[in-house]
Amino acid sequence: MKAGEVMTILDNALRIGKGVTRYGKVAAYIPELAKKDKNKLGICLYTIDGDRFEVGNTEDRFTIQSIAKVMALCLALETFGAGFVFDHVGVEPSGEAFNSLVELDNRSNRPFNPMINSGAITVASMLEGRYSIEEMQKYMQDVCEDPEIAIDEAVFESEMATCARNKAIAYLLKSKQIIDNDVEESVTFYTQMCAMSVTARNLATFGLLLANDGIQLSTGKRLISSQTVRMVQTIMLTCGMYDGSGEFALKTGIPTKSGVGGGLLSVAQKKMGIGIYGPSLDEKGNCIAGCELLGYISEAFHLHIFDQTEWKVE
Ligand code: GLU
Repeated sequence: MKAGEVMTILDNALRIGKGVTRYGKVAAYIPELAKKDKNKLGICLYTIDGDRFEVGNTEDRFTIQSIAKVMALCLALETFGAGFVFDHVGVEPSGEAFNSLVELDNRSNRPFNPMINSGAITVASMLEGRYSIEEMQKYMQDVCEDPEIAIDEAVFESEMATCARNKAIAYLLKSKQIIDNDVEESVTFYTQMCAMSVTARNLATFGLLLANDGIQLSTGKRLISSQTVRMVQTIMLTCGMYDGSGEFALKTGIPTKSGVGGGLLSVAQKKMGIGIYGPSLDEKGNCIAGCELLGYISEAFHLHIFDQTEWKVE
C-alpha cells in the first residue's frame, strides 16, 4: 500500500470516528475529566518500518488513566516475575464494569485480571513497595520516548477527592490479604500513575514497542522481554476493553487497552502501534470513536491477529 492510501484511510477513519462522537459522553465521575472537549479526536499510527501517520488531535495531552495498567503490568512482570504477579491477580475476563468489586467479594479470592481496577490496584501496590512514583514516571517516559510525561495535578487531585470506590476496593483487597502494603499509599500511587498526561503519539510509540517484541525501534534496545510482551498482549486482547472485550476482539482482533481519559492503545503484532485520543466514551467507558474506527482500520490494513494477508507500506 502507498503512503497516500494510508492517509486516505486515516482521513476516512477520522470521519467515521467523528460521526459517532456525539453519541458518547466524557467521563464525569472524575470532575476534572468532565471539563474535556468531547469533540477532540486524534489517531496516530507508528509502523514497524518507522513511518508515522497521523490525523486530528494527536499532540493534545490527556491523562492516560487505565492504559497505565499495561505499563504497570509490564514493570511488575519484569520486576517480580509472572509466578508472583499471577498468584495475586488472575487472567480471566470479569465480565463486570472496570470499577466493580462484586466479583472480588463474591466469586474469587483474587482480582480477575490486571486490567480492571481491583487487579491494577493490586499491581500498583506491589510496585509502590518497590518504586517511587518518579521511577514509575521515568518508566512511562522511557517506553513512550517522551520526557515530558508528567502528572496532571488537577486531574490527580480531582480523582483523589472522589476515589472512595477505589479505596473501598483497596481495603477489600487488604482484608483478603491480597495486598500487603499500605492501602492509602497504594491508592495514591495508582491514582498518580493514572494521572500521567500523554498524547496519542506517545501511545502509538508504546504500542510499536510492544508490536516490535519489546525492542525500541529508534535505538534497537530491548526494553521489555518477549515473554512479558506476549503475556501483556494476551491480557489486553481478552480483558483490555472491560466488559466490552469480547465484542471488541471479534470486531477488530487488535489487542487494545482503553482509559477513561479517552485514550486507546492498540498493538498490531509486527505491523504497528496505534494511539487514539477521543474523550467521548461509550457506556462501558471506552472511547466511542476509537472503537468504531478501529474496526474500519483493522479491515483496511489487515490488522486482525487472525488475518493472514500480507500488508506493508511501500
Ligand atoms: N483512574 C481511573 C479509575 O480508577 C481509571 C479507570 C479507567 O480508565 O478505566 O477509575
